[in-house]
Amino acid sequence: MSDDPTAVPTPQHRPLSLRDLDAIGVDRIRGVGERKLAALREVGISTVLDLVTFYPRRWVDRTNEARVSDLEVGKEALVLVAVRSVTKRVTKNRKTMVNAVVGDGSGRLSITFFNQPWREKQLAEGLNISLFGKPEVFRGGLQMTNPIVDLIGDRTGRIVPIYPQSEKASITTWEIAGFVENALERCMARGIADPVPWSIQQRLGLLDRTDALRLIHLPETMADQARARRRLAFDELLRVQTVLVMRKRAMEREAKGIRHVIEGELVPRLRAALPYELTGAQQRVIAEIERDLEGVHPMHRLLQGDVGAGKTLVAVSAMLTAVQGGHQAALMAPTEVLAEQHAAGVRRLLADVTVPDPGNLFGDRPLRVELLTNRVTGGDRKDVLAGLADGGVDIAIGTHALIQDAVAFESLGVVVVDEQHRFGVEQRAALRDKAAGGAVPDVLVMTATPIPRTAAMTVYGDLDVSVLDELPPGRTPITTHWANGPLDEANVWADVREEVKAGRQAYVVCPLIGESEKLELASAQETFEELSGGELYGLRLALLHGKMPSAEKEAVMDRFRAGLTDVLVSTTVIEVGVDVPNATIMVILDADRFGIAQLHQLRGRVGRGQHASRCWLVTQPDPDNPTDNPRIQALVESTDGFYLAEVDLDLRGEGTIMNTAQKGRSDLRLASLRRDRELVEQAREAAFELVDPDPELADHEVLADELRLLFSSDDEEFLFKS
Ligand code: ADP
Ligand code: MG
Repeated sequence: MSDDPTAVPTPQHRPLSLRDLDAIGVDRIRGVGERKLAALREVGISTVLDLVTFYPRRWVDRTNEARVSDLEVGKEALVLVAVRSVTKRVTKNRKTMVNAVVGDGSGRLSITFFNQPWREKQLAEGLNISLFGKPEVFRGGLQMTNPIVDLIGDRTGRIVPIYPQSEKASITTWEIAGFVENALERCMARGIADPVPWSIQQRLGLLDRTDALRLIHLPETMADQARARRRLAFDELLRVQTVLVMRKRAMEREAKGIRHVIEGELVPRLRAALPYELTGAQQRVIAEIERDLEGVHPMHRLLQGDVGAGKTLVAVSAMLTAVQGGHQAALMAPTEVLAEQHAAGVRRLLADVTVPDPGNLFGDRPLRVELLTNRVTGGDRKDVLAGLADGGVDIAIGTHALIQDAVAFESLGVVVVDEQHRFGVEQRAALRDKAAGGAVPDVLVMTATPIPRTAAMTVYGDLDVSVLDELPPGRTPITTHWANGPLDEANVWADVREEVKAGRQAYVVCPLIGESEKLELASAQETFEELSGGELYGLRLALLHGKMPSAEKEAVMDRFRAGLTDVLVSTTVIEVGVDVPNATIMVILDADRFGIAQLHQLRGRVGRGQHASRCWLVTQPDPDNPTDNPRIQALVESTDGFYLAEVDLDLRGEGTIMNTAQKGRSDLRLASLRRDRELVEQAREAAFELVDPDPELADHEVLADELRLLFSSDDEEFLFKS
């Protein structure tokens, strides 16, 4: 390196970028020969970049280490020991049992593993390992049963990194640690380029990247490790947020939107005709949407609201705003049943609304709402398509049939997409492309599955978010009970009979069985027969499942709606869209097969009328933990969808949320939407700070280059198409 710190860095002297590291094969690292190269490939490491971002799974803090002679019976502790001998046998009740004698200079200890036969191979004689567990007295000596084992190998230092291990790859965690150390040593002379401006590092108290990479692998203290993790997690989040913010800004820049008329007559007329007052949240959200609608940029907004929060009215208000300015609106639902229900609901709300008729100088005509699904065929379909093309249809409601090629609108102004999680980004884009003449319609995405704020920021980071966080008044909240096992279950059926006797109706939701609709159907059939002949004998039961012909499904639903059926036994087809106010009790069987969000969604089908409603969650006791079930207990405690979404994120991690949004190398490895909520917000703020004055990141070449390197080619094309 040059001695003159003010010298302009030459290419050899500038800090290493991630792209530089990605261009160096791991075969260049000391000690990596043919065999280790293959083993590293096996765990996904082929470049130095892969190697230095292969982060430890955990760290063993040897400053907390005890000597064997200091161990106390019944007190958890960490010891570092060498393996002296290992034996394996099969016990009388056919369990495998691996025993090892281990020790340090001060004494010996025996450790025992049940049903972990692979431990015999893992614990090679002479190997240095760390054990964390609770010592007990066994046959006069100390013993730990199933302790946490980390392989330390020849690593020294106070904090030992433990790398993710693969069963197959013949490479140890200390070998990886050695390779990483060698790679880092060789990087240190030039240092690693830092994409985060100094001012932001200062403000957020972040380590610089070179230190962070060193300290995550070779921390001196656990505090070092935590600071390093925070910095590197921030980088991951910043990359994702920068992509999202660039996408959002690009969309705003490039798309020519429609300036809608928000001072028109139709919306006030609708509001005047409502038999109730809007909730505060509805008023606020409608105002947010109207501000978007009158602006030049096309709206791109996510509306989150719990089941029953009154999203339909907000959607209708937005659609009417388009219509009152002479445009059309479309509402897209994920299923035919739901589209039909929306159509019925919207028609009811707009029954008396008329619009000016240009063909008739003094006249108005009724506002025209049409349904378009694959079930609308023949002449009806032709009619609807013609009406969409010539502007005769004001509001179209349908399924993805709306985005087929044959569908053209005269002037599509507002698009509402219901139940976001079933539509992809591409489908939203396809609907936007239905715009004639280049003006992009405003898009409102509605979801009844609340997601935590940080997750929304990450998964829907290119959308603005509105939240309907207030239920209309006069609802009797649903109470939820947990029936854990056959004894409790008897109470459930007694409760159902009671409720039916009082004139109410019930849903019984049958277990979700993997991915197999066939099995699901069989189980629903079986439940129906068992209940009909048993616990619910004498009541009027009906069966509903997804495989029924539509007409039959409709007939079953009609009878239930009309009160001719007491108990509707169904698969999860009722999850969306069924609205029967007299149904006041729901029983969900094998409830632990459903996720929190889905259970919450399901129980939202009751509690829709003036009678108090109940939901029973039926499970079989877990033999390992008969009294605890955090998911079920969360649902019993709370009916707040946003609270439940946070609990869900805590319990499950973000895996499922992130699936579709990020993939491959742009994955979040260290960052967690759950643990790093504050960091997500800080990263988003920083992304705006970087992108707004510099939309193409011309002055942030290090960051721009990392995005190009780490995001998939689709994203890249989008980001840097200029
Ligand atoms: P969501 O789609 O958010 O689940 P809906 O739009 O279907 O909720 O509304 C649920 C019910 O609440 C409907 O019957 C609707 O008529 C009623 N509703 C909506 N807004 C209000 C309000 N402000 N006051 C009273 N009832 C309302
Ligand atoms: Mg609804």
